[in-house]
Amino acid sequence: MNQHHRPKDECGVFAVHGHPNAALLTYYGLFALQHRGQESAGIVTANGPGTAFQKHVDMGLVSQAIKPDDLEKLKGTRAIGHVRYSTTGSSVLGNAQPLMVDCSRGQIAIGHNGNLVNAGLLRAELEARGSIFATTVDSEIILHLLAQPNEAGSVLSALRRVHGAFSLVIMTESEIIGVRDPNGFRPLSLGMLDGAYVLASETCAFDLIGAKFIRDIEPGEVVIINNDGIRSEHPFNETRRSFCVFEYVYFARPDSMLNDINVARVRTEMGRQLARETGVEADLVIPVPDSGIYAAMGFGEELNIPYVQAFVRNHYIGRTFLQPSQLIRDFNVRVKLNLIRELVEGKRVVVVDDSIVRGTTALARVNHLREAGATEVHVRVSCPPHKHACHYGIDFPDPKKLLANQHTPKEIAGYLGADSVGYLSIDGMVKATQQALGSLCLACFNGEYPVPVPDGAGKYVMGKQRGLVPDSSPQTDMFGKLK
Ligand code: AMP
Repeated sequence: MNQHHRPKDECGVFAVHGHPNAALLTYYGLFALQHRGQESAGIVTANGPGTAFQKHVDMGLVSQAIKPDDLEKLKGTRAIGHVRYSTTGSSVLGNAQPLMVDCSRGQIAIGHNGNLVNAGLLRAELEARGSIFATTVDSEIILHLLAQPNEAGSVLSALRRVHGAFSLVIMTESEIIGVRDPNGFRPLSLGMLDGAYVLASETCAFDLIGAKFIRDIEPGEVVIINNDGIRSEHPFNETRRSFCVFEYVYFARPDSMLNDINVARVRTEMGRQLARETGVEADLVIPVPDSGIYAAMGFGEELNIPYVQAFVRNHYIGRTFLQPSQLIRDFNVRVKLNLIRELVEGKRVVVVDDSIVRGTTALARVNHLREAGATEVHVRVSCPPHKHACHYGIDFPDPKKLLANQHTPKEIAGYLGADSVGYLSIDGMVKATQQALGSLCLACFNGEYPVPVPDGAGKYVMGKQRGLVPDSSPQTDMFGKLK
């Protein structure tokens, strides 16, 4: 398979077992998870053994993809749902999830958040044995493994074969199954509403539907929910936990709890820590909305510098499906935010964002501030410099396009036309999350990959073992998100 056409899956998943309004709850749950994927949305429902699964998936935001009429047709007391974000090259309806098959084991539907590192190998093996793939998404590989008629197709055996990042919701004719890979890269939580179990990528989905958060699914845990209740299996070999730190930095919603700590709180602390590490004299601290808001608040609090929302966000810009060319990216950056000149004219400002990827956003913001008459512009970033690819589901461009992969902070300041650029240290970031250093995946910052990437992409760490994979250039197919 052409690697460059293989989509990355930065996604959100949701599931409910045993509720008369399963489809509606899933629909609302997906609304709460919309930030995890705006390309397509879908729901599959089931009523019980012997009845056909109902499926509706379409492109676009949840509100565009699923209409009231579609919801009407999704009957059943069980449902899984999915929102998907991937590269534009793979923006096709055929890749939208949940995926569904009817095989010798009965009907199976699956929704996946994450990215499998051995997808290419497994796919080649399955194709050699006669599998015919209908999509280019990793998740279909899991479906093919599950569909195998012998013991190899049992859920636990199939799951043992996939490596990488996977938080999954699976629906069979009698069960809802929630899975988190042994490293626990992506979040997945369990909740309850009116006696029915619900699963969601983030706890903010529980808040929206009024469900009670019970607990996180543990890394390596498989929860099987059916009419008899819930049980857990632990089919994987134990490995070190490596929760994606970027979920805290940018990806998750601020009202979610990740590993029992609120995301907004972590981001505010990242801002405080950033101020302690890279403080500067200034008149105002300005966030890049929405991603820089909490870090900017923390930064201002720590240094007693007024926090001012000088950028006004246009909330009606959806993600476009146009090719991610530089021209379109620049346009996206400009159309999204406007500046209140009066607030910044003649002022020394610190502008805070959560991250710099290509530098497009930061460049536009600094230019804008200069044009509006700011006398000094200091850029502060509430995570360390992004230098490496993510192979576990976050959509970053080819490392060569990562500004910090090629340049020092000083060079970046020159490129942006900023008076200074300061990044949060790795230690400072980890401290702000209140997680143990060894329990986070920091690969995009330090190049240490907790699960080896077969294509080869720099250093990797496995358990306590550290080694080097041959230094071939990483096969990334990511174009970055249009902002
Ligand atoms: P860039 O303009 O390419 O430097 O991207 C930086 C901006 O994109 C920041 O405002 C981030 O909040 C946001 N961002 C960071 N990582 C991602 C990602 N993986 N997908 C989409 N947006 C991102």
